[in-house]
Amino acid sequence: MFSGKTEELIRRLRRAKIAKLNVEIFKPKTEIRYHESDVVSHDFTSMPSTPIDNSSSILLFGSNTEVVGIDEAQFFDDGLPEVCVILANKGIRVIVAGLDMDFQGKPFGPMPALMAIAEDVTKVHAICAQCGAPATYSYRTVANDETFYLGEKESYEPRCRACFVRKE
Ligand SMILES: [Zn+2]
Repeated sequence: MFSGKTEELIRRLRRAKIAKLNVEIFKPKTEIRYHESDVVSHDFTSMPSTPIDNSSSILLFGSNTEVVGIDEAQFFDDGLPEVCVILANKGIRVIVAGLDMDFQGKPFGPMPALMAIAEDVTKVHAICAQCGAPATYSYRTVANDETFYLGEKESYEPRCRACFVRKE
């Protein structure tokens, strides 16, 4: 969460638009914390996007699409990697942003499969809220065991491995 994933996605998609490429952006319908249809980062940079229920809907859009951006990919179904392969095989550039691990430190939804098939993977790190080291984990600061719990910002904090394992 706070690592700048969405900012990085938006930065890359903006560059594609500057290059006059046709860009389509998708996000899961469940992800409506800030705005129903825009992709919005924690610092409120935004781009218009299409909220969808199922990854297969991505294949129904624009035959002239040249770049597809997907945000919050961890909340998509397991069909998303295959959808990305179909798009990429058509010559479409696919840029996916998502959380690689859930609040228990486990691989999150379709993310491990997406990372395996991607040409390039960039891990962006937040700063550990406890000690200031680079953070790769999302520590849930409220008691709730649901993986898909979508709380407000203050329900999570970024943590490094040592502070995540300490669990206090
Ligand atoms: Zn730490």
